[in-house]
Amino acid sequence: MKTVIISDINHLNIAADVIQKGGLVAAPTETVYGLCANALNPASVRSIFKAKGRPSDNPLIVHIADQSMLSNLVTSISDEALLLMKTFWPGPLTLIFKASSLVPKEVTAGLDTVAIRLPSHPVMQKLIDLSGVPLAAPSANTSGKPSPTNAQRVIEDLDGKVDVIIDGGSSSVGVESTVLDMTSDVPVILRPGGITYEMLRAVLKTVIIDRAISHTLSADLLPKAPGMKYTHYAPNAEVFIVKGHSEAVMIKISELIKLSKSQGKAVGILATDETSHLFHADLVLSAGPEADLNVIAANLFEKLREFDDAHIDIVYSLAFPKEGIGYAVMNRLEKSASYHIIEV
Ligand code: AMP
Ligand code: MG
Repeated sequence: MKTVIISDINHLNIAADVIQKGGLVAAPTETVYGLCANALNPASVRSIFKAKGRPSDNPLIVHIADQSMLSNLVTSISDEALLLMKTFWPGPLTLIFKASSLVPKEVTAGLDTVAIRLPSHPVMQKLIDLSGVPLAAPSANTSGKPSPTNAQRVIEDLDGKVDVIIDGGSSSVGVESTVLDMTSDVPVILRPGGITYEMLRAVLKTVIIDRAISHTLSADLLPKAPGMKYTHYAPNAEVFIVKGHSEAVMIKISELIKLSKSQGKAVGILATDETSHLFHADLVLSAGPEADLNVIAANLFEKLREFDDAHIDIVYSLAFPKEGIGYAVMNRLEKSASYHIIEV
């Protein structure tokens, strides 16, 4: 199919028309770009899975533009959920509710729950408004690759597979939404993201982090968010995280560069503004200033893709602090490294 690229937001009606006719539209959100279809049309939702090559047992997040769209999609809304929506919506927080019978099983992957988010990006909000329906939308990448944070990366993955791609510049948050399960007694973080544990704790009495997030997955530790079990966010290059005291890390990475070079590999380093000048490899990229985890989050996926652009075989990355949004950054980086972590 011929993909239409829209960069003038005055032309969003073209995209809304495509949604209403059952087609696919990639659109910017504040987290990453989303691949959108009418969430209430099972055939359209199935075509999302096809375009991405996404396993069909991985449910989708439903995006709404106004809290009033929520009541039809869920069976009940707790006071805690209301408080969270008031505090963090619009924004990068996805809440899991019991699904109403209106939500197709294609969206929920057969679960009795549904994930809902109200994004803050004005283009996404306007697209939902003009379409007049909730939009099912996973990240707009080929399944398994780093999520796209700008339209160019969506075009690389999905040109010819979707009807429309809307170019709305770079996503400001850069990692996907926090997924919070509101259907158990205590809210559980199933995926860390833009709304941090600390931010949730400031509002909720208790919040638990799903054990599957902080541990390497095994048969007895299956994640509750089905998508968390798949290989994810991986560039073509093999990624290793080198962790420990900064001086020891520098020495170790320099040794690893020499070793990999002697094996004929193209070596990439993911460092920070403060450290990138210390390394001599085929491509040294900075994820951002050491002290600004928000910038590092916004850059992470794009940097992983830049290593692929340069045909890098192996990437050694620094570890970032697991605090605030750094928790989400390290969750994505550890997955992109298939949990290959070198401790020094
Ligand atoms: P993506 O759309 O690729 O950002 O992924 C959405 C994430 O939300 C995946 O990890 C899904 O498994 C998770 N998710 C979506 N719906 C549900 C649900 N009903 N229950 C638990 N996790 C969900
Ligand atoms: Mg995704």
